Amino acid sequence: MTDVAERVAEFRTYLKRMQHYHEAISLMHWDLRTGAPRKGVELRSEAIGTLAGELFELATSPQLGEMLEALSDDSVFPALDRITQAAVREVRREYERNRKIPADRHRAFVVLTAKAQTVWEEAKAASDFSLLRPYLEEIVAMTSEFIDCWGYGEHRYDTLLDMYEPGVTVRLLDDIFGRLREDTVALVQAIVASGRRVDTTPLQRYFDPARQRQFSRLLLERMGYDFEAGRLDETAHPFESAINRYDVRVTTKFLPHDVRSAIFSTIHEGGHALYEQGISPDLIDTPLCNGTSYGIHESQSRFWENFIGRSREFWEFNYADLLRLFPAELADVSLDHFHRAVNHVEPSLIRIEADEVTYNLHIMIRYELEKALVAGDLKVADLPGVWREKMREYLGVEPATDAEGVLQDVHWSGGDFGYFPSYALGNVYAAQFRSALARDIPDFMEQVRRGELQAIKAWLNDRIHRHGKLLKPKEIIRQVTGEDVNAVHLVAYFREKFEPLYGL
Ligand code: ZN
Repeated sequence: MTDVAERVAEFRTYLKRMQHYHEAISLMHWDLRTGAPRKGVELRSEAIGTLAGELFELATSPQLGEMLEALSDDSVFPALDRITQAAVREVRREYERNRKIPADRHRAFVVLTAKAQTVWEEAKAASDFSLLRPYLEEIVAMTSEFIDCWGYGEHRYDTLLDMYEPGVTVRLLDDIFGRLREDTVALVQAIVASGRRVDTTPLQRYFDPARQRQFSRLLLERMGYDFEAGRLDETAHPFESAINRYDVRVTTKFLPHDVRSAIFSTIHEGGHALYEQGISPDLIDTPLCNGTSYGIHESQSRFWENFIGRSREFWEFNYADLLRLFPAELADVSLDHFHRAVNHVEPSLIRIEADEVTYNLHIMIRYELEKALVAGDLKVADLPGVWREKMREYLGVEPATDAEGVLQDVHWSGGDFGYFPSYALGNVYAAQFRSALARDIPDFMEQVRRGELQAIKAWLNDRIHRHGKLLKPKEIIRQVTGEDVNAVHLVAYFREKFEPLYGL
């Protein structure tokens, strides 16, 4: 073997070893959240901590640094294959980022946020922000310290965004969210003013969980989810977990008194899973065998959940099967009523329960608060008050308690600043993909009406999924849609769908 070939082989073996740590940690996490015995949780968490620590050492080792340097050399890099080049770039990015934080500060942050998440649970239960406040102040201070270590472009927040959504900046988000906010606030006001309300209580009768499970499985099969490379389980907070390329698991939640929860969680997580099951096998054993960003990942789940799963066409085909499983429960619920009920729009306090239209406003509030905290324009102590003001301004509702307000999400106590915008970007991207799909397959919604989802899945596989992390989010958007990131398509979709539903 030539010297370069040997170096590449050594690098690829090293990456494979890191992937094996990832696989073990993912499987242990999945197990913790799907029925691991309570008494084993503490030891299991310690075991995860050990493996995560070793993985961090692998990701920051001088040995890896030497390999990266050798492979990045101008005399070597251009001759590498495309996958190794992308892997070098990706690993180097993480390596440099991690090496900039002193190891003892990193450890201190892990300990602080682990403690803060426990305190957050107590604070939320007591609806008392003052309990969490000192922890949050320290987390913001440490985040600020890390931003100085990492360096940043135009805005201090940009470097946080870059972790979740490479290439996305405050400048871009301000522009996209600005337009989306104006249009959404106006649409929500018109919907509220229309006075049209739909009775959702029939969907909150008793629905046997075992039959709900059957329906969830049926939906995943129809979407083209590969059960031989995955499985469906139950959990408190549904998630998808890619253990490896051929083991991509979905979880959902069967609420006995709300038939919507399992249906839309399953479709949502199924959308994430189709992404991971669609990545090119060429990328196995590299960090590229993953969705390219949180936002693109979320675009896949939202695409299936909202654009397909909440469409009239989807239920024209699938409602008969739901009726077959729940003939008595849904006897007096027409297809039309069901479709309206799963598209009910109403300003509400809790993000994770928000409908398709108001959801993005919840995200924008968090984005603006995070940005201000990081820039030093807002004090942690002032969060609850500013939260209420923004809720009133954007959604017209205001929480009576902190539990229903500033304390509702776990993210900040976990130190995850910069994460929230990905959720709304997912909706923005999904609408752009939907327009591109309509250009390539003009009758795709007719196919949905006939229960044919294969061509849609194949299109997503080909345009988005197979690339894994080979392409950055911005590159995928450009390549698939011919445009840059913009909210025009999401705004148009909202109008097209909700104006007729609400007689506007
Ligand atoms: Zn998701």
